[in-house]
Amino acid sequence: MKLSKKALVTGAAGFLGSHLCRRLLADGYEVTALDNLFTGTKANIYDLFGNPKFSFVLHDITQPFWGQFDEIYNLACPASPIHYQKNPVETTKSSVLGIMNVLDLALKTKAMVLHTSTSEIYGDPLVHPQVEGYWGNVNTIGIRSCYDEGKRVAETLCADYHREYGVDVRMVRIFNTYGPNMHPKDGRVISNFIMQALANADITLFGDGSQTRSFQYCDDLIEAFRRYMGLDRVKIDSFMAEHGLGAAVLNTGNPGEYTIRELAEETLRQIPESKSKLVFEPLPKDDPRRRKPDITLAKALLGWEPKVPLKEGLARTIEYFRSLVASSKA
Ligand code: UDP
Repeated sequence: MKLSKKALVTGAAGFLGSHLCRRLLADGYEVTALDNLFTGTKANIYDLFGNPKFSFVLHDITQPFWGQFDEIYNLACPASPIHYQKNPVETTKSSVLGIMNVLDLALKTKAMVLHTSTSEIYGDPLVHPQVEGYWGNVNTIGIRSCYDEGKRVAETLCADYHREYGVDVRMVRIFNTYGPNMHPKDGRVISNFIMQALANADITLFGDGSQTRSFQYCDDLIEAFRRYMGLDRVKIDSFMAEHGLGAAVLNTGNPGEYTIRELAEETLRQIPESKSKLVFEPLPKDDPRRRKPDITLAKALLGWEPKVPLKEGLARTIEYFRSLVASSKA
């Protein structure tokens, strides 16, 4: 009998973690899901509890942990500005101590690691669209710094554990991603706009709504994770060296770029019964003006590109939030 591969997913009860657990189970893995439920919720993974190949461990990754896994996917960290700004010190700790614990475990057990980094490591970028070789424009002491700098140090640790100890760690810089299982009070723009539109509440545009973001549907991202982890390490290293990168790092996002105002208008078009109006509120500090990934490298290395356009992904996400609202009223 062929034994299943074993995967550990940190941050498994979060939005992306829950999708990844489902995908790994579908791919035949035995999955250990780790989460401290700070921003994640068991509701995202309840349906998996009866699966004999799935187990859940309530644990905070700032503390060491043990287990023998083939692959570790490190997703644990509050990722929404309102959440990470509420507990900034814990946020930095979950990035920095969290990845150290993951990398130490990988070093001892020879597990492969996929670390989720973020487009936030580019800060308020001066290069557009953002390429992996761009070093960023980041404030070290601002209200976003706990997340941005925590994730930057985590990248440094990944690069050094690879160079110094040979740990097989692969990094993805995730650009704004959305879809079902986002927390309704997540505070990010897509979940906010949909929840506001469904409740006939004001749609809160920060600033004048002309800042841009590029929105990636969750399934596209998970596909990129799986392709990346399926690649031979020697191939990755020579690809990165060829492109002048000192570590295995890839942007993953959907390059379609929209202003926040366009997003609000599309949301209202897709919820035509809504009586919501657009209102303008002050732009939060350090809010990046523009963000759009250059995914040339991911395309070349993974043979991957996002498939779900914003209109379609938004429709699926609206359907999810509609059923969530209906079930909470039932
Ligand atoms: N935003 C907004 N209204 C909201 C929430 C966010 O206009 O209710 C804006 C926010 O200022 C930013 C963009 O939408 O310019 C994306 O914000 P989000 O928090 O989703 O992610 P970020 O890319 O800033 O981490």
